Amino acid sequence: MNREGGYRRLWVFDFDGTLSSIVPDRNAARLHPASRALLKDLAKDPRNRVAVLSSRALDDLCSRLTIPGLFLGGVSGLEWRLPAGHRISPGEAAERKLEEVRESALPGLARLSAFPGVDLEDKRWSVAVHFRRVLPEALSMLRPLILDLKSRGGIRIFEGPAVADVQFFPSANKSFGVRRLCRVLKLDPAAGQIFYAGDDENDAMAMRWVISKKGTAVVVGDRIRVRGARYVDGPPDLARVVREMAGSAAPGGGATERRTKAG
Ligand SMILES: [Mg+2]
Repeated sequence: MNREGGYRRLWVFDFDGTLSSIVPDRNAARLHPASRALLKDLAKDPRNRVAVLSSRALDDLCSRLTIPGLFLGGVSGLEWRLPAGHRISPGEAAERKLEEVRESALPGLARLSAFPGVDLEDKRWSVAVHFRRVLPEALSMLRPLILDLKSRGGIRIFEGPAVADVQFFPSANKSFGVRRLCRVLKLDPAAGQIFYAGDDENDAMAMRWVISKKGTAVVVGDRIRVRGARYVDGPPDLARVVREMAGSAAPGGGATERRTKAG
C-alpha cells in the first residue's frame, strides 16, 4: 500500500536492555509494558515504519514481539520479517561463506562449550558465549579462548558484560542491519528520518551511522558513549522521550533537539 502525504519516519529499537529490562536469564526477557504501548502507538500511525533490530535469532525475537505492523530484524539485521509476514534472508553466497567460517571456528567453539559455567547459544550466523555463570576468578582464562576465535578470518566479536557475541558474518552488525532495512523500505537515509535506540557497542555502530545521516539516536543506560546521542535511563524513560519526538511536527523539529554528553 502506498501511503503518500506527510513524511515517513523510521523508528528502530534494539530489544534487550532497550525495550526490555536486562534480566539474569535471557530467556525471561520480556517487552516492558511502556515499550509495548509505545510500539503499538507508533505502528498505528501510517507515516511511521517501526522496527526492532536484535542480535537474537529472528524466531526468538518474533516470539517476544506479537504486536502487528512491526519490521523485525534478527542476527543484527541479516534476516528480516516484514509486517505482512514475508521474510528476507541473506542469500546463497552468504550461506556458503557462513558454512566455511563456521567450519573453521568449530574447534574453538568446542573448547568454549567445555568451559565451566559457559553457555553457548548458537544462532547460526553467530554464537553468543554467555559467561554470567563463570566464576570471576576463571574469567581471565576464558578471555584468551574467546580472543583465539577472533584470530581466524571472517570472525568478529562484540564483547558485553555477560556475553560475547561471536559473529561469523562480520559485516552483519546493526549498522549493516539498518542500511539493509532502508533499502528494503526504499527510504533515503540522508533525509534525516531515522531514529535509533540501543544500549550496546553493536547498537553504537548503527547510531553513529544514523547520526551521520542527520538522524536521531538515543542511548539507553550508560554502557556506551555515542557523540551526538541523547541518553535515557531505561525503557519507560525511552518511551517518554520517543513520544515527545513522535509528537513533533517534522523530523529535526524541536523535540528532536539533542542533548549531548561528552565522551
Ligand atoms: Mg541491547
